[in-house]
Amino acid sequence: MMNYIEKDLKCVWHPFTQPMVDQPPINIVRAKDTILFSDDGKEYIDAISSWWVNLHGHSHPDIARALQEQFLALDHVIFAGFTHPAAINFAEELLDILPGNMAKLFYSDNGSTSIEVAIKMALQYYYNQGIKKQTIVAFHHSYHGDTFGSMSVSERGAFNQPFNDLLFHVEFITSPSENAKAAEEELRKLISKGNVTAMIYEPLIQGAGGMLMYEPSDLDPLIALCKSQGILTIADEVMTGFGRTGKFFASEYMQNTPDIICLSKGITGGVLPLGATVCTQKIYDAFLSDDRSKTFFHGHSYTGNALSVAAARASLNLLKKTLSNIQFIEANHRRFSQSLKSCKNVKNIRCRGTILAFDVLNEQKTSYFNSIRDHLYREFLKKNILTRPLGNTVYFLPPYCITQDELNHIYTSTLDIVSHI
Ligand code: PMP
Repeated sequence: MMNYIEKDLKCVWHPFTQPMVDQPPINIVRAKDTILFSDDGKEYIDAISSWWVNLHGHSHPDIARALQEQFLALDHVIFAGFTHPAAINFAEELLDILPGNMAKLFYSDNGSTSIEVAIKMALQYYYNQGIKKQTIVAFHHSYHGDTFGSMSVSERGAFNQPFNDLLFHVEFITSPSENAKAAEEELRKLISKGNVTAMIYEPLIQGAGGMLMYEPSDLDPLIALCKSQGILTIADEVMTGFGRTGKFFASEYMQNTPDIICLSKGITGGVLPLGATVCTQKIYDAFLSDDRSKTFFHGHSYTGNALSVAAARASLNLLKKTLSNIQFIEANHRRFSQSLKSCKNVKNIRCRGTILAFDVLNEQKTSYFNSIRDHLYREFLKKNILTRPLGNTVYFLPPYCITQDELNHIYTSTLDIVSHI
């Protein structure tokens, strides 16, 4: 009889995985709080919140209860021509705590679709007004997803190389994490050409690009510049949203707020897929017309799924009681950063809210394909910690319920692993 891993290898295709090189997957049969339990009796601390989605720990009873109640009342209903209380309540509560003047929420399924929706909204916003402006500006090292639109606004590299010729043209400017002044200059020059529609950015932290961090004062002038020239700003808060950076949303750190915010990942507390693209009234109004051709012709079968939004509402309720845990994690990360400084093969230690990142030095240059990545991944697993280094960049982004003991175990293991490289 085949075991589960043999069956998996026979019939399942996993994301971002090269089966000829990567280790076979680990079979997780249960999860509680920060711990993942595998079928061979091992336990792993989920130090990356299962790809940055989990907020309050796995299998949280409040979310379970909300899901059960919702399922018994309504599982799902078409969202064109119909609506339901769960989707309305969550939209109302989310808009209430979002920065800026967010007025309308458009539901989709995941981070990439929340970006697709934002791009299409921005382009059609001008189109509906008879203005031909089509250039989108993005930052180098950005990552906004895996669909064609979201790939187009992401750094061109190994992830999207096979499709490069098919991606639409985007103007990339220097990332503020490298040189904020240069970014501003380049943006100014591009704007002067008159064809810029929108600027898309990951506020304060470029996630998949290597957990590259920058200051609110680096981003604020760029948003201000766009605003002064009538250019739409799109904040991709798919990773940074829902408390990761120490505030509910990273956009709260800036004086200038975006026109559109993209949300996913932590939105449901990490239990069900959901994307949300929120925008100001000004954007929504550009789609209102007695001419049907101005409609936003976009929607997914599962738009506004009742179970996802019920989970999201329960998670938002929990988040409002969780800010002290977020501060506790940040204080621990900052304390540990001091000890980490004494490791001679560690550099660029950086921290924002619950996210701690650093680069491990070896003879290869910093890149996603740095071979030290596999070594670090395996060493952390041996110590019962799930991390997913981005090349030689190690980062921790834990659920907010992580305990002092678990953090201590992550920190002592890190010192041990990096000092033996
Ligand atoms: N934007 C950002 C900033 C992300 O980090 C990601 C995913 N890592 C996405 C968009 C795409 O989200 P998803 O994987 O849910 O499509």
